Amino acid sequence: MAKTDEAALRREMVQTAQRMNASGINQGTSGNLSVRCEGGFLITPSSLPYESMKPADIMKMSFDGSYEGRHRPSSEWRFHRDILREREDVNAVLHCHSVYATTLAVHHKPIPAFHYMVGVAGGTTIRCARYATFGTQALSDAAIAALDGRLACLLGQHGQIALGKTLGSALWLAIEVETLARMYVHALPLGEPPVLPEEEMARVLEQMRRMSYGQMPEPEGSNDVARPKAAKAARKLSGKRG
Ligand code: 13P
Ligand code: ZN
Repeated sequence: MAKTDEAALRREMVQTAQRMNASGINQGTSGNLSVRCEGGFLITPSSLPYESMKPADIMKMSFDGSYEGRHRPSSEWRFHRDILREREDVNAVLHCHSVYATTLAVHHKPIPAFHYMVGVAGGTTIRCARYATFGTQALSDAAIAALDGRLACLLGQHGQIALGKTLGSALWLAIEVETLARMYVHALPLGEPPVLPEEEMARVLEQMRRMSYGQMPEPEGSNDVARPKAAKAARKLSGKRG
Protein backbone atom coordinates (compact mmCIF):
# COMPACT_ATOMS: atom_id res chain seq x y z
CA MET A 1 0.00 0.00 0.00
CA ALA A 2 1.28 3.46 -0.85
CA LYS A 3 2.18 5.41 2.28
CA THR A 4 -0.87 7.46 3.24
CA ASP A 5 -0.66 9.73 6.20
CA GLU A 6 -2.39 8.35 9.26
CA ALA A 7 -4.33 11.54 9.97
CA ALA A 8 -5.94 11.34 6.50
CA LEU A 9 -6.79 7.66 7.04
CA ARG A 10 -8.41 8.47 10.40
CA ARG A 11 -10.59 11.14 8.77
CA GLU A 12 -11.52 8.70 6.01
CA MET A 13 -12.47 6.06 8.61
CA VAL A 14 -14.89 8.49 10.31
CA GLN A 15 -16.39 9.59 6.97
CA THR A 16 -16.80 5.98 5.81
CA ALA A 17 -18.44 4.89 9.10
CA GLN A 18 -20.87 7.80 8.81
CA ARG A 19 -21.54 7.07 5.10
CA MET A 20 -22.15 3.40 5.99
CA ASN A 21 -25.01 4.40 8.31
CA ALA A 22 -26.30 7.22 6.04
CA SER A 23 -26.50 4.75 3.11
CA GLY A 24 -28.93 2.64 5.13
CA ILE A 25 -26.76 -0.51 5.23
CA ASN A 26 -26.13 -0.23 8.95
CA GLN A 27 -27.68 1.36 11.99
CA GLY A 28 -26.65 2.38 15.48
CA THR A 29 -23.27 1.16 16.62
CA SER A 30 -23.51 -2.16 14.77
CA GLY A 31 -20.83 -2.81 12.21
CA ASN A 32 -17.18 -1.83 12.17
CA LEU A 33 -14.37 -0.83 9.81
CA SER A 34 -10.62 -1.22 9.51
CA VAL A 35 -7.87 -0.06 7.18
CA ARG A 36 -4.23 -1.05 6.89
CA CYS A 37 -1.74 1.58 8.09
CA GLU A 38 1.96 1.84 8.78
CA GLY A 39 2.80 -0.82 11.42
CA GLY A 40 -0.69 -2.35 11.66
CA PHE A 41 -4.23 -1.18 11.08
CA LEU A 42 -6.77 1.41 12.20
CA ILE A 43 -10.10 0.13 13.52
CA THR A 44 -13.32 1.68 14.80
CA PRO A 45 -13.79 1.63 18.58
CA SER A 46 -16.41 -0.68 20.10
CA SER A 47 -19.94 0.66 20.69
CA LEU A 48 -19.17 4.32 19.94
CA PRO A 49 -21.86 6.15 17.89
CA TYR A 50 -20.57 7.07 14.43
CA GLU A 51 -22.34 10.49 14.29
CA SER A 52 -20.15 11.94 17.03
CA MET A 53 -17.00 9.94 16.26
CA LYS A 54 -13.79 11.97 15.79
CA PRO A 55 -10.55 10.93 14.04
CA ALA A 56 -8.86 10.69 17.48
CA ASP A 57 -11.45 8.06 18.55
CA ILE A 58 -10.15 5.63 15.91
CA MET A 59 -7.98 2.91 17.47
CA LYS A 60 -4.62 1.72 16.16
CA MET A 61 -3.77 -1.97 16.43
CA SER A 62 -0.74 -4.10 15.74
CA PHE A 63 -1.03 -7.56 14.22
CA ASP A 64 -0.07 -9.03 17.64
CA GLY A 65 -3.39 -7.72 19.03
CA SER A 66 -1.96 -4.85 21.08
CA TYR A 67 -3.64 -1.46 20.68
CA GLU A 68 -3.30 2.27 21.28
CA GLY A 69 -6.11 4.74 21.77
CA ARG A 70 -8.65 6.11 24.21
CA HIS A 71 -11.30 3.37 23.79
CA ARG A 72 -11.56 -0.40 23.31
CA PRO A 73 -11.14 -1.58 19.71
CA SER A 74 -14.14 -3.15 17.94
CA SER A 75 -15.15 -6.48 19.46
CA GLU A 76 -14.50 -7.91 15.97
CA TRP A 77 -10.80 -6.93 15.88
CA ARG A 78 -9.87 -10.61 15.42
CA PHE A 79 -11.49 -10.99 12.02
CA HIS A 80 -10.25 -7.56 10.92
CA ARG A 81 -6.71 -8.50 12.02
CA ASP A 82 -6.84 -11.98 10.48
CA ILE A 83 -8.27 -10.80 7.14
CA LEU A 84 -5.73 -7.97 6.79
CA ARG A 85 -2.92 -10.35 7.77
CA GLU A 86 -3.95 -13.12 5.37
CA ARG A 87 -5.23 -11.08 2.45
CA GLU A 88 -2.48 -8.96 0.95
CA ASP A 89 -4.84 -8.12 -1.95
CA VAL A 90 -7.00 -5.87 0.26
CA ASN A 91 -6.43 -2.95 2.62
CA ALA A 92 -9.90 -2.33 4.06
CA VAL A 93 -12.51 -4.46 5.85
CA LEU A 94 -16.12 -3.39 6.41
CA HIS A 95 -18.65 -5.31 8.49
CA CYS A 96 -22.32 -4.36 8.78
CA HIS A 97 -25.74 -5.78 9.63
CA SER A 98 -27.50 -4.73 6.41
CA VAL A 99 -31.10 -5.93 6.48
CA TYR A 100 -31.40 -8.01 3.28
CA ALA A 101 -27.97 -9.63 3.49
CA THR A 102 -28.76 -10.52 7.11
CA THR A 103 -32.22 -11.81 6.09
CA LEU A 104 -30.44 -14.40 3.91
CA ALA A 105 -27.76 -14.98 6.57
CA VAL A 106 -30.34 -15.86 9.24
CA HIS A 107 -31.37 -18.71 6.91
CA HIS A 108 -27.69 -19.56 6.16
CA LYS A 109 -28.53 -18.99 2.50
CA PRO A 110 -25.61 -18.03 0.22
CA ILE A 111 -26.30 -15.75 -2.76
CA PRO A 112 -26.06 -17.81 -5.97
CA ALA A 113 -25.33 -16.48 -9.48
CA PHE A 114 -28.96 -15.47 -10.03
CA HIS A 115 -27.61 -12.12 -11.35
CA TYR A 116 -24.27 -11.52 -13.05
CA MET A 117 -23.30 -8.82 -10.50
CA VAL A 118 -22.66 -11.58 -7.95
CA GLY A 119 -19.29 -11.69 -9.76
CA VAL A 120 -18.19 -8.40 -8.15
CA ALA A 121 -17.53 -10.39 -4.96
CA GLY A 122 -15.01 -12.46 -6.95
CA GLY A 123 -16.79 -15.74 -7.69
CA THR A 124 -19.97 -17.56 -8.67
CA THR A 125 -21.54 -17.31 -5.19
CA ILE A 126 -21.41 -15.08 -2.15
CA ARG A 127 -20.92 -17.66 0.59
CA CYS A 128 -22.44 -17.62 4.05
CA ALA A 129 -20.03 -18.31 6.94
CA ARG A 130 -21.18 -20.74 9.64
CA TYR A 131 -22.52 -19.12 12.80
CA ALA A 132 -20.11 -18.33 15.63
CA THR A 133 -20.43 -15.98 18.60
CA PHE A 134 -19.57 -12.35 17.81
CA GLY A 135 -16.07 -11.25 18.77
CA THR A 136 -14.58 -14.76 18.82
CA GLN A 137 -11.72 -16.45 17.05
CA ALA A 138 -14.27 -19.01 15.83
CA LEU A 139 -16.12 -16.24 13.96
CA SER A 140 -12.86 -15.02 12.45
CA ASP A 141 -11.99 -18.56 11.29
CA ALA A 142 -15.47 -18.97 9.76
CA ALA A 143 -15.18 -15.60 7.97
CA ILE A 144 -11.70 -16.39 6.59
CA ALA A 145 -13.01 -19.68 5.16
CA ALA A 146 -16.09 -18.06 3.57
CA LEU A 147 -13.94 -15.28 2.07
CA ASP A 148 -11.49 -17.68 0.40
CA GLY A 149 -11.01 -16.26 -3.13
CA ARG A 150 -13.80 -13.74 -2.52
CA LEU A 151 -14.18 -10.10 -1.55
CA ALA A 152 -17.42 -10.50 0.41
CA CYS A 153 -19.39 -13.04 2.43
CA LEU A 154 -22.46 -13.30 4.60
CA LEU A 155 -22.06 -14.22 8.28
CA GLY A 156 -24.58 -16.79 9.50
CA GLN A 157 -27.24 -15.20 11.75
CA HIS A 158 -25.19 -12.02 11.90
CA GLY A 159 -24.50 -9.82 8.83
CA GLN A 160 -21.96 -9.38 6.04
CA ILE A 161 -18.27 -8.54 5.45
CA ALA A 162 -16.97 -6.67 2.38
CA LEU A 163 -13.31 -6.11 1.51
CA GLY A 164 -11.61 -3.55 -0.70
CA LYS A 165 -8.33 -2.00 -1.69
CA THR A 166 -9.71 1.20 -0.13
CA LEU A 167 -12.40 2.04 2.41
CA GLY A 168 -14.43 3.53 -0.45
CA SER A 169 -14.32 0.32 -2.49
CA ALA A 170 -15.24 -1.81 0.56
CA LEU A 171 -18.26 0.44 1.19
CA TRP A 172 -19.22 0.27 -2.48
CA LEU A 173 -19.07 -3.53 -2.40
CA ALA A 174 -21.09 -3.80 0.84
CA ILE A 175 -23.84 -1.71 -0.82
CA GLU A 176 -23.69 -3.96 -3.93
CA VAL A 177 -23.98 -7.09 -1.76
CA GLU A 178 -26.97 -5.58 0.03
CA THR A 179 -28.61 -4.66 -3.32
CA LEU A 180 -28.09 -8.21 -4.63
CA ALA A 181 -29.49 -9.66 -1.40
CA ARG A 182 -32.54 -7.37 -1.74
CA MET A 183 -33.13 -8.49 -5.35
CA TYR A 184 -32.72 -12.15 -4.35
CA VAL A 185 -35.13 -11.84 -1.41
CA HIS A 186 -37.65 -10.17 -3.77
CA ALA A 187 -37.16 -12.87 -6.43
CA LEU A 188 -37.50 -15.83 -4.03
CA PRO A 189 -41.28 -15.67 -3.45
CA LEU A 190 -41.70 -16.26 -7.23
CA GLY A 191 -39.64 -19.44 -6.90
CA GLU A 192 -35.88 -20.13 -6.65
CA PRO A 193 -34.52 -18.12 -9.61
CA PRO A 194 -32.38 -19.89 -12.25
CA VAL A 195 -28.62 -19.39 -11.90
CA LEU A 196 -26.31 -18.34 -14.72
CA PRO A 197 -24.34 -21.34 -16.04
CA GLU A 198 -20.71 -21.79 -14.89
CA GLU A 199 -19.40 -20.93 -18.41
CA GLU A 200 -21.33 -17.66 -18.44
CA MET A 201 -20.09 -16.73 -14.95
CA ALA A 202 -16.55 -17.52 -16.10
CA ARG A 203 -17.10 -14.99 -18.96
CA VAL A 204 -18.55 -12.44 -16.51
CA LEU A 205 -15.60 -12.83 -14.13
CA GLU A 206 -13.12 -12.50 -16.99
CA GLN A 207 -14.94 -9.41 -18.29
CA MET A 208 -14.92 -7.87 -14.81
CA ARG A 209 -11.21 -8.61 -14.42
CA ARG A 210 -10.41 -7.19 -17.88
CA MET A 211 -12.41 -4.03 -17.24
CA SER A 212 -11.27 -3.65 -13.58
CA TYR A 213 -15.00 -3.62 -12.99
CA GLY A 214 -16.01 -2.57 -9.53
CA GLN A 215 -12.47 -1.82 -8.47
CA MET A 216 -10.45 1.34 -8.51
CA PRO A 217 -9.53 1.82 -12.17
CA GLU A 218 -5.79 1.53 -12.74
CA PRO A 219 -4.38 4.88 -13.94
CA GLU A 220 -4.05 3.96 -17.62
CA GLY A 221 -4.42 1.08 -20.01
CA SER A 222 -5.93 -1.49 -17.63
CA ASN A 223 -9.41 -0.91 -19.00
CA ASP A 224 -8.98 -2.12 -22.54
CA VAL A 225 -12.54 -1.25 -23.57
CA ALA A 226 -12.25 2.49 -23.24
CA ARG A 227 -9.30 4.72 -22.48
CA PRO A 228 -9.34 8.19 -20.98
CA LYS A 229 -8.36 10.83 -23.58
CA ALA A 230 -5.72 12.42 -21.38
CA ALA A 231 -3.94 11.99 -18.08
CA LYS A 232 -6.34 14.61 -16.67
CA ALA A 233 -9.32 12.38 -17.46
CA ALA A 234 -7.55 9.41 -15.88
CA ARG A 235 -7.01 11.37 -12.67
CA LYS A 236 -10.67 12.37 -12.63
CA LEU A 237 -11.70 8.75 -13.07
CA SER A 238 -9.43 7.37 -10.34
CA GLY A 239 -10.65 10.04 -7.92
CA LYS A 240 -14.26 8.91 -8.34
CA ARG A 241 -14.21 6.24 -5.68
CA GLY A 242 -12.08 6.79 -2.59
P1 13P B 1 -18.43 -3.27 17.87
O1 13P B 1 -19.22 -2.03 18.28
O2 13P B 1 -17.67 -3.85 19.03
O3 13P B 1 -17.58 -2.98 16.67
O4 13P B 1 -19.49 -4.42 17.50
C1 13P B 1 -20.44 -4.29 16.48
C2 13P B 1 -20.69 -5.58 15.79
O5 13P B 1 -21.27 -5.55 14.72
C3 13P B 1 -20.25 -6.86 16.38
O6 13P B 1 -20.34 -7.90 15.46
ZN1 ZN C 1 -21.68 -7.54 13.81
